[in-house]
Amino acid sequence: MSYKIIDHRYDVVIVGAGGAGLRATLGMAEKGLITACITKVFPTRSHTVAAQGGISASLGNMGEDDWRWHMYDTVKGSDWLGDQDAIEYMCREAVPAVIELEHYGVPFSRTEDGKIYQRPFGGMTTNYGEGTAQRTCAAADRTGHAILHTLYQQSLKHHAEFFIEYFVLDLIMDDDGSCRGVMALNMADGTIHRFSAHMVVLATGGYGRTYLSCTSAHICTGDGNGMALRAGLPLQDMEFIQFHPTGIYGSGCLISEGVRGEGGFLMNSEGERFMERYAPHAKDLASRDVVSRAITMELRAGRGFGKNKDYIHLHLEHLSSDIINERLPGIAELAKIFAGVDVTKQPIPVLPTVHYNMGGIPTNHYGEVVTLKDGNPERVVPGLMAIGECACVSVHGANRLGSNSLLDIVVFGRAAAIRCAQIMTRKAPHKPLAKNAGEQSLERLDKLRYANGNQNTAAIRQNMQQVMQNHASVFRTQESLEQGAEKIEQVYNSFSDVKVTDRSLIWNSDLIETLELDNLRGQAVVAMNSALNRTESRGSHAREDYPKRDDENWLKHSLAWLNAEGKVEIDYRAVHMFTLTNDVEVIPPKERVY
Ligand SMILES: Cc1cc2nc3c(=O)[nH]c(=O)nc-3n(C[C@H](O)[C@H](O)[C@H](O)COP(=O)(O)OP(=O)(O)OC[C@H]3O[C@@H](n4cnc5c(N)ncnc54)[C@H](O)[C@@H]3O)c2cc1C
Repeated sequence: MSYKIIDHRYDVVIVGAGGAGLRATLGMAEKGLITACITKVFPTRSHTVAAQGGISASLGNMGEDDWRWHMYDTVKGSDWLGDQDAIEYMCREAVPAVIELEHYGVPFSRTEDGKIYQRPFGGMTTNYGEGTAQRTCAAADRTGHAILHTLYQQSLKHHAEFFIEYFVLDLIMDDDGSCRGVMALNMADGTIHRFSAHMVVLATGGYGRTYLSCTSAHICTGDGNGMALRAGLPLQDMEFIQFHPTGIYGSGCLISEGVRGEGGFLMNSEGERFMERYAPHAKDLASRDVVSRAITMELRAGRGFGKNKDYIHLHLEHLSSDIINERLPGIAELAKIFAGVDVTKQPIPVLPTVHYNMGGIPTNHYGEVVTLKDGNPERVVPGLMAIGECACVSVHGANRLGSNSLLDIVVFGRAAAIRCAQIMTRKAPHKPLAKNAGEQSLERLDKLRYANGNQNTAAIRQNMQQVMQNHASVFRTQESLEQGAEKIEQVYNSFSDVKVTDRSLIWNSDLIETLELDNLRGQAVVAMNSALNRTESRGSHAREDYPKRDDENWLKHSLAWLNAEGKVEIDYRAVHMFTLTNDVEVIPPKERVY
């Protein structure tokens, strides 16, 4: 079928209106670049709205702090897989970036003397691991909501143009390997749009929905990562998937680490505060991978609650009602709705749940996408940036610290705008797009739209989610991953037998969910194979058969490509063991204990 194409031209096109996309949109527009932001959901419904606990920055409002301590914690949290130049940049820029947010109007909670309120979070310390830092800036337990609304309003004030409920299908790539724009479908009226831009910025969020039980919304399907794979670009460190220790039992809804930051604690069915055994120093505020593994081990040892002994308890009844009402009102509501629990009287039943993707599209600390292959040096992909959870800068390495993601999205959204203002001229002439630009993408759209196989989209998606949940979990083994790789390949291939019943091009049709599944399945295959390939334990990737970190062989990023047959090819990229300035020294690898 031939489609009428509506053409657009912008200096910059940003795909995604979560925290990363909006911070970049605002920054680009503020700098006078002609900017469009395309999003499949209304901006303030983007997943960032769900972020609860806060955003880290060493403001030192509630005790001594230093961005170098923050950098140390982040490198250690990453299990030394994070790039130290990017981590230095993020932790140093955290302070001006958060103060800017305050000036833009984010309604942060306040201390008695009117400063931004900061709470303790897992793995955040003072003096290079000695004390507990209060570094996480919070707007009660609705920090993401506050940031997202402020950034959207500011973007409108600076005349950024929004294309809302447009589904971006694919990148438009030139023969020389540069990115020239994107193809999109307007889900309100079914029209097809071709955007030409000097810079495309992917800010499409994570791919939590490859799993059955996760804290992320149904829209978290990693569409930008899917587009990158189809454009022949690699994804980095996809084996590193974070399980948050405290998802509500049964629903997977998140109970923020901020709860433990305010004094909440975990308990097993023998009445023991077991974290004291696993992390004698940090206890309940150890890093997330450590707490998730500890809970899993308690459950395996039969010390869980319930008929199947498959959850543990998070207690906050001992906290004063002032703390709960002022600082954790959303948590109290979530616990009531999803667990039927009154947190002032009863503990919340919790268990580890998929929460965050450390892996994604590889970039440098400006947000520019990089690639390499066949031993050639790293190169920047012209015209393409990636920021936020879809990117891998890499500041989180093998494990992200809580409150470092809101920071990542704000700092690198801002960095992308600073970079574009340096390298681009406003309204520079556009080189015409190739005559057939976007054709391939429309052929894919048509193929899926009229797909008439035997399996419906929801069934294939559920098979994929089940395989990921069972085979790429908190603990992994060669056997479970080999079986997982085989099964996920079958699921990937079963997509050729998909049946789409509602073929309309508008929102709510199962065509949109099929397009999302097409993106998810590639990421699932890449994540499973990257996990099988890495024979060590590091951060969130815990191999029972290789329980130790192996710096000699594995202090490197995995890069994974997906070829046209659905097979994964893996290469490596060196971890950046250097800093940008002389203000701080490289933090050499050592044993990671809390
Ligand atoms: C429940 C929960 C609580 C959290 N709490 C915290 C916290 O307290 N602190 C912290 O640091 N981190 C927290 N995180 C993590 C953090 O919220 C996320 O990592 C972060 O918000 C991701 O932001 P983003 O801008 O990259 O993506 P998102 O906010 O997911 O935005 C993605 C955007 O891309 C758009 N998009 C996607 N695909 C397409 C497409 N095909 N076409 C057009 N548009 C598209 C979407 O419409 C959306 O606008 C939490 C996560 C969860 C799940």
